[in-house]
Amino acid sequence: NSIPIATPLRTRAIVNRYFMKAKKSLGQNFLVDLPIVKKIIASAGVVEGSQVIEIGPGIGSLTEQLLLAGAKVLAYEVDPDLPDILYNELPAQIGNYELNDRFRIIMKDILKADFATDIADYFDVNQPIIVVANLPYYITTPIILKLMHSPIKISQLTLMMQKEVAERISAAHKSKAYGPLTIAVKKDMDVDFAFEVKRTSFMPSPKVDSAVVVLKPLEHKLLIEHEDLFNQIVKLAFSQRRKTLNNNLKSLIKDKDARQKLLNDLNLDSNIRPEELSILQYIELSKKIFEQR
Ligand code: SAM
Repeated sequence: NSIPIATPLRTRAIVNRYFMKAKKSLGQNFLVDLPIVKKIIASAGVVEGSQVIEIGPGIGSLTEQLLLAGAKVLAYEVDPDLPDILYNELPAQIGNYELNDRFRIIMKDILKADFATDIADYFDVNQPIIVVANLPYYITTPIILKLMHSPIKISQLTLMMQKEVAERISAAHKSKAYGPLTIAVKKDMDVDFAFEVKRTSFMPSPKVDSAVVVLKPLEHKLLIEHEDLFNQIVKLAFSQRRKTLNNNLKSLIKDKDARQKLLNDLNLDSNIRPEELSILQYIELSKKIFEQR
């Protein structure tokens, strides 16, 4: 079949052929916009032989183009109806390769997956491994955090998600979207908000617009010595966004003068708000608090 899966025509035909219904509970919104799929693949830098982990292939809109771009794909899926459809609808032959050489599906919840075991006899761990996915939106944040802290080295994540979450993870300090999620991601990753995707690019259309974000591990890791304390402080600092940092730190540092001294030592205004501090300033803050304990 020469019409790409990532088109309304072919997607409708597949949905009808298998009497399938997009499962809302699994966040199924299929991409039906070929230029967008190609843009995702270009952002991911997929070339012949790229080793790609895909999360949620669905009926294969993105998978098909990944394969045609030369990728070797390992896909995680939970919907038991999909493997048969994928093996029927994806191209049986890609250049000199059979589908089986280039595509493997693992029927497992991505949040429970053990990447090291799953890739062992499939990917060359000495070559880069990347993730490309149109995520199931109901678990966007846990998936990103799991991928970031994966025991296998993932050199780049190219992820489609709700625009609102994309804005939060790529936010600069002093902006409205900046918060604990921004810091949790940006302390380890270089984040690039690549482009927006309108809800009409999907079938069925989701209720929100989407965006593609490219994440890469920071080349120069930030040094955070007491990570638990750091995380606790960030959480506390943003516990009441409209209050000052000073106010939010009350439960941790009870003495008023001690709080004032802390802010003075860091050259921070006593009325500074939590979103005004950069990640480096949060690192300094937690270091100072640790020293004063
Ligand atoms: N990649 C396809 C596309 O772009 O058209 C489908 C994307 S759809 C937004 C999300 C996919 O993730 C669905 O196929 C869904 O069944 C799958 N999914 C949902 N929860 C999952 C989980 N916990 N682990 C793995 N896949 C999951």
